[in-house]
Amino acid sequence: MHHPLFAEHGISVWILRLDRIHPEVSGNKWLKLQGWLNTLESPCRGILTMGGPWSNHLHAAAAWCRLQQLPFTAVVRGHEGQQTQTLEDILQGGGRVVWAQRQAFANTLHWKQMAQQEGLLFVPMGGDGPAGVEGVKAYFDQYHTHPFDAIWCAAGTGTTLQGIMRSRLPATSVFAFNPGIHDEQMELQVIQTARETGRNLQWVRLPGDHFGRSTSEQFNTMNAWFDNTGIPTDHVYTGKMIAAFLNYVRQENHLPRRILLVHTGGLQGNRSLMPGRLKFVG
Ligand SMILES: *Cc1c(COP(=O)(O)O)cnc(C)c1O
Repeated sequence: MHHPLFAEHGISVWILRLDRIHPEVSGNKWLKLQGWLNTLESPCRGILTMGGPWSNHLHAAAAWCRLQQLPFTAVVRGHEGQQTQTLEDILQGGGRVVWAQRQAFANTLHWKQMAQQEGLLFVPMGGDGPAGVEGVKAYFDQYHTHPFDAIWCAAGTGTTLQGIMRSRLPATSVFAFNPGIHDEQMELQVIQTARETGRNLQWVRLPGDHFGRSTSEQFNTMNAWFDNTGIPTDHVYTGKMIAAFLNYVRQENHLPRRILLVHTGGLQGNRSLMPGRLKFVG
């Protein structure tokens, strides 16, 4: 891909557009969901899964169920009645929304049992777990002949990164972008996977990124990136990762030559922003 900064530094950069992998089931959530569907011995009869009111995972799983004409239940963390465009899409597509506050939401066993009683596939929040890792791995295996030196990917639960590292993708250096999440367990799992798969792991954070909040500086970077490349990013993960990547290219003296950026999707979440912040929505 073209960007004035890349030419200036003599590096080749590719971006893997998982945001365009499926017309409706966007991003890495589609890969993880496929992994979960593959655990079934008989055809899927519907899904029950969990997430926040703007969850990309809920949005993707609901879209898949709607397209397959299967029942879908979203267990949403928060107060009854909070409306978001993500939840509106789910309801309009015929899905059901069940609200749960902190403690009730955290009682995963309860939701698993509910799924079982209703004959639905239970998928953990974010599509996390070994099946999610497997789904990502299977997808990235197809890129085993592409000689990248380094790969960049954002982490939430770290499932996508684990799947990438376990795949046959030959990148030796893995840059894990943390968008301001404090989750020691997640970090340990990613570190362990890097060790097991012989990857050279580096964590990246955005300097001045306070508790994951988006700033006007970040929106400016996302808009400038869009002007330069025509590629939209989301404000929670990929927009921040791109900002961190551009900083890195400006500051690092020994840059890898061939770099792959993973666009994990999440554009639907930009609808939570005030209109006018971004030149694009998704
Ligand atoms: C969920 C999500 C991630 C994080 O993926 P994990 O597998 O949970 O680490 C990254 N980017 C986007 C856009 C996401 O929606």
